[in-house]
Amino acid sequence: MSKILLHGAWVAAEKDDGAQVLIKDGYVGVTDDKISYVGKDKPAGYEEAEIIDRKYGLIMPGLVNIHYHTDSPLTKGFCEDCGSVNFYGSILYEYLTEIYAATTTEDWAAICKLSFMEFIKGGVTTSVEFNSYFPVEMVDLIGQSGVRGYIAPETNTLEKFPYSLDGKNLIIPHKTGDEMFKKLQRNVDIIEKYNGAYDDRVRITLGPTEPPACRPEMLREVRKLSETYKVPITIHAAETRLERDYIKDEYGRDSIMYLAENGIIGPDVIYAHTVYASEEEKKLMAETGTNVAHCPSVFFTRGAYMKSLQHYTNLGINVGIGTDTFPQDMIREMRLATNLSKVADQDFRSAKSDLVFRCATQNGAKALGRSDIGKLAVGAKADIAVVDMDEFNTIPVRDPIKVLISCGTAHNVSDTIVDGKLLMKDKKLIIMDEEKVKREAWSAANAVWGRAPRLNELSPFSLPMF
Ligand SMILES: [Zn+2]
Repeated sequence: MSKILLHGAWVAAEKDDGAQVLIKDGYVGVTDDKISYVGKDKPAGYEEAEIIDRKYGLIMPGLVNIHYHTDSPLTKGFCEDCGSVNFYGSILYEYLTEIYAATTTEDWAAICKLSFMEFIKGGVTTSVEFNSYFPVEMVDLIGQSGVRGYIAPETNTLEKFPYSLDGKNLIIPHKTGDEMFKKLQRNVDIIEKYNGAYDDRVRITLGPTEPPACRPEMLREVRKLSETYKVPITIHAAETRLERDYIKDEYGRDSIMYLAENGIIGPDVIYAHTVYASEEEKKLMAETGTNVAHCPSVFFTRGAYMKSLQHYTNLGINVGIGTDTFPQDMIREMRLATNLSKVADQDFRSAKSDLVFRCATQNGAKALGRSDIGKLAVGAKADIAVVDMDEFNTIPVRDPIKVLISCGTAHNVSDTIVDGKLLMKDKKLIIMDEEKVKREAWSAANAVWGRAPRLNELSPFSLPMF
């Protein structure tokens, strides 16, 4: 039996009725993979436990990142200030494909480790990798990193990737007949073989890419399979204007209506983004209990934002948070979520700190159908992060949740525990070798960038090289 006893200046605990509360000068006990004590008084029975005593620490549930792409660090310094003018400024169709086409499995694995390191260092304990190109390799990478991870294998009916471009329109060749279901079958094979691997730290979802990439026949099959295997479905939805144009031209309806007609809606579905959803579509999401992965930074850097987190919440939509792109810092993402909701609503009361904190913890867990993560409560999984609030960017602290969200960054996290195991203690990684991961990521990125022929044409340097 292994035990850890944490003591901190504040504990963000969950009461029996589900309300999140702060305990001042409190304790959290861990026994094996579960939380065995949360309270104000020092508990008995932890005399032999490993002690994590943080005088200025905020002990909180590990953050739940419900939408990211492992390879996103490869696009750092490439996608900023850029976009395809013929595609409403989107980077999806030319920029990302330039990088993907130049990436080998080895490069990707190196970047994947960097992503997991970023999560552990930033207090993220659960992650949902969307549309994984290397889902089988990913199983072991998650397993060995120590984090809790969901994998959504890339599943669509595309004849080839990248999509064909004529400079103005998306031209999407789809497979036909039995061929249409090949990637879905691969998704099913991976569910059968790996769902629940590494003591159930690794789980597999169904991962249809996005509406234009998925023919209705395949989507209807995805719905049936989710019932058979009882796994969540994640999909990009109402993500770009181009997506909406394409679905309207092809099927005569809006993209979320298209998904709903083909069964991809409901409490076991996470829509990523929905930035371009109509009010009618938002109401449908609320009525059906469909979850949303809100990823503020990837949109706000392109001049767009979801309208709004507070509005979605008022409608009754369960919204979790994802990092989607770089940096994979959930604390920064919480800050953007509150700020952009205030901007969208022109109201300082919009998306207050308690709501945003809930989105990054409880709501993310709910979106995944989990009642055992995203909270500090006896019996829950021991997925815990400790934030050191005694840093120049956080002191002085009156309300640690407000300060975390308004001023904190991933660098403030001092300790991360997943499934009862310490992955970082006092800002030092325990399982991963930080220097090795960094060196390998540098060399993989340089190799990928060297292989991408249009890199400098698509994304000129901000200052010319002298
Ligand atoms: Zn995405």
